[in-house]
Amino acid sequence: MTQRIVTLISETDIAKRVKELGAQIAGEYKGKNLVLVCVLKGSFVFTADLARAIDLPMRIEFLGVRSYGEGTSTSGVVQITQDLSRPIEGEDILIVEDIIDTGLTIAHLLDLFRTRHPNSIKTCALLHKPARTRIQVPIDYLGFTIEDAFVVGYGLDWAEKYRNLPSISVVESG
Ligand code: 5GP
Repeated sequence: MTQRIVTLISETDIAKRVKELGAQIAGEYKGKNLVLVCVLKGSFVFTADLARAIDLPMRIEFLGVRSYGEGTSTSGVVQITQDLSRPIEGEDILIVEDIIDTGLTIAHLLDLFRTRHPNSIKTCALLHKPARTRIQVPIDYLGFTIEDAFVVGYGLDWAEKYRNLPSISVVESG
């Protein structure tokens, strides 16, 4: 079986949108204690670009999660494999996600972080697949809305492959 990589969102379009999101976030977080929380592994590329597009002092934290699911779907049972390095009490948390699919992962993370008494919690996702929503979650900053397709690239994997593709792409088998 051969696989064909078809670009859905180009490197140029991603870069433009990330710059816009960064400027918007910078405008809204001036004077706050911004902490970007990068949800590993998929968000590592997006977080690296987004952080450099936000012209403000900030902390960057990494959260390791594993969601139990079958194949390309998630069950919503989220295990924390690497926790934040410091408490977040009184800080302004921005959770950075690669993609919001069913919404179950981000809902779980919002519940978890609320117990740690930050000053505020917001969410930023590069991609959203509304067709697959199982739980409504607030997406405060969103890059792109996409159709129901399994995407790879720009940090997103398929069985740990394709994370280094510069564009968001669809893998077609034939
Ligand atoms: P949710 O809990 O919202 O269903 O899923 C969130 C996680 O599932 C994402 O952070 C990502 O790791 C994974 N995921 C959902 N859709 C896709 C997709 O189209 N491609 C890839 N590579 N991962 C996805």
